Amino acid sequence: MAINEQRFYYCPKCGGKLTYRYIGEERPRLVCDACQYVLYENPVVGVAAIVLNNHKQILLGRRTGGRYPGLWCIPCGYVEYDEDVYDAIRREFKEETNLDIEPVRVFTVLSNFHDPEKHSVGIWFWARVNSGEPLAGDDLDQVAFFDLSDPPPLAFPTDRVVIERLHADNGKEQLNIVL
Ligand SMILES: [Zn+2]
Repeated sequence: MAINEQRFYYCPKCGGKLTYRYIGEERPRLVCDACQYVLYENPVVGVAAIVLNNHKQILLGRRTGGRYPGLWCIPCGYVEYDEDVYDAIRREFKEETNLDIEPVRVFTVLSNFHDPEKHSVGIWFWARVNSGEPLAGDDLDQVAFFDLSDPPPLAFPTDRVVIERLHADNGKEQLNIVL
């Protein structure tokens, strides 16, 4: 999507009309004609957690709602505005899988461009399960472990990248934090 393909038309502050203008930067910005508020278009932050069982299978969830029903993903969600990213992944994982996890460290960070309406930056954490039994919740209707070499149809291209990297790594990185 070109940056100047307009997605927002009204000022979130005053309701005035937004117009792309050059305000001294390389790219144009959406500026309110009435109050001059600049609506910077930045990606939102998503968090996901990698949980492997002792067969080096990854926990995935099947989505029910949104734009990808029936497709699978690494359990994930968006960070709330006032929420720490580590709290966000604990909360999202609990909501979606019923598992209490502890994010151990970051596996990777990737940009998501698959949804032109909502670009995001995704953080994939390694996580350890502290307690709970896997049970689908929130916008998932199934959770299950899958071989890294044979994942089900995936909702997000970056989850595929992550799973391929995990598979190529052949379990070396995660050996110390299996369930
Ligand atoms: Zn305004």
